[in-house]
Amino acid sequence: MKIILLGTAGAIPSSTRKLISTLVIRDGELFFFDAGEGVQQTLMNLKIGMNKPTRIFVTHMHGDHIFGLLGLIQTMSLLTRDKPLYVYGPLGIKNFLLTNIKNLGIILNFSLVIQEIKEGLVIRTNKFKIYAKKGNHSRTNFAFTLKENNRPGIFYPKKAKKLCIPEGKKWSALQKGKQIRFNKQIIKPSQVLGKSRPGRKIGISGDTRPTTRLIKFFLDCDVLIHESTYSKHDKLLAKDRYHSTSVEAAQVAKKSQTNLLILTHFSSRYNKINILEKEARKIHHNTIAGNDLMNFILPYPDEKRITSSYVLAQSNQ
Ligand SMILES: [Zn+2]
Repeated sequence: MKIILLGTAGAIPSSTRKLISTLVIRDGELFFFDAGEGVQQTLMNLKIGMNKPTRIFVTHMHGDHIFGLLGLIQTMSLLTRDKPLYVYGPLGIKNFLLTNIKNLGIILNFSLVIQEIKEGLVIRTNKFKIYAKKGNHSRTNFAFTLKENNRPGIFYPKKAKKLCIPEGKKWSALQKGKQIRFNKQIIKPSQVLGKSRPGRKIGISGDTRPTTRLIKFFLDCDVLIHESTYSKHDKLLAKDRYHSTSVEAAQVAKKSQTNLLILTHFSSRYNKINILEKEARKIHHNTIAGNDLMNFILPYPDEKRITSSYVLAQSNQ
C-alpha cells in the first residue's frame, strides 16, 4: 500500500502546494480522498494512468476539496477511460457533478457511479472495508478509514510436509486461508498456519475540529492523515473556522494510538511548515508535515519498525 500526497494546501494553493488531495494505491486500485484543482495533471506527471480501477471519496462540499473532480472526470473521458468511476460523498455531490457535467457538455465514455453516503460502512469487499464518520466542520464533513481484513497467518511448510500434503496448488490454497481435501480428509488452514495477522488501517480526517468520536474512529490507525490548518498559536482561528491546529491533530493521533501522523491542509499564512511539525511532535513524536508528492510505503503492522524508520528518515531530508 502506498500513500501519495497530491496536494497539501488548505483553501488557497501556493507556489509549492497544490490544493488538497490524497491518493492511496492498494493492489493496483486507486483511492482518492478529495480532489483539489489540477489533480489530473499531478496524476499524469506521476504516470499513474487514467484507466485504473478508481474510487474517489469526497470529505465535504467545499471548493478546495472538489474543484478538481470535474477536470479529472473530463480528462479521463477525453483519454477514453472505459472502466466505471465510483464517487462517494456527502449529500449534494451528485447534483454538483451531474449539473456541471450537463451544463459543460462533458461527454462521458465510462459509467460514473455517484453515491451520497451516510455515516458507517461505505464499502465492503473481501479484502478491506471503508467507513465514514461525521466530523465537526462548517459543512457536513466525513472522515474516512480504510481497514484491511485480517490476513492468514504465517505458513509452516514443516507442518504441511508432516501431513504429507504435496507442494503446489494445495499449499497455495492453504496459504490463502482456504481448507482443502486431501486423502479423503479435510485439512484446515489452522493446521499449517500461525495466528491470523492484522491488516493495515489508515484514516483521513477531511476538515474538522478534533472530536472524541473521531478519536474512537481512528483507533489504532497505522497512518492518520489529519488536517493541520493552523499552528497552536492560532487556536482561536481554528475553533472559529472549524479546523484543527497541529497540536490538536497530534492529540487525536496520540489518543487514538495512531502510529504515524501525517499533517496536511496547511493555511497559506505559514511559510515554514516545519514549525507546525515541531509543535505536533512534542505531543506525538512520529509525525510528519506533508509536502506535495511525498509518498509513503506502508508495510503490514507486523513490520511496523520498517515504517517508522523509513518515514523518519524521509522527514530528515
Ligand atoms: Zn479545506
